[in-house]
Amino acid sequence: MASAFFFDAEPVCEVSSLLLPALDACALCAKPLGRDDDIFMYRGDTPFCSEECRDEQMQLDAIRARQAARSAAGRRQQQQQQQYSSRTESRHQESRKVSVAT
Ligand SMILES: [Zn+2]
Repeated sequence: MASAFFFDAEPVCEVSSLLLPALDACALCAKPLGRDDDIFMYRGDTPFCSEECRDEQMQLDAIRARQAARSAAGRRQQQQQQQYSSRTESRHQESRKVSVAT
């Protein structure tokens, strides 16, 4: 009984969230993306809620590429930062550099 009711309630949402989890929210600010909202795709499979977010992600990618090139030269420094989550660490650095660049 319970499962029949549940399946009747939102069968489509169940399937689509399993197949396309990345389309549920903006990849940058995590704002939920509804079906009627405009979705700005980047690199084919990364959704954003607005041109601003997508633009920022493109800047972040450019910075990340630069950092990757730099970190190849300075690997000793990076090893000291390994106790931090690399995601959190790089996000901090990136947002700082973005605000300077803008
Ligand atoms: Zn966004």
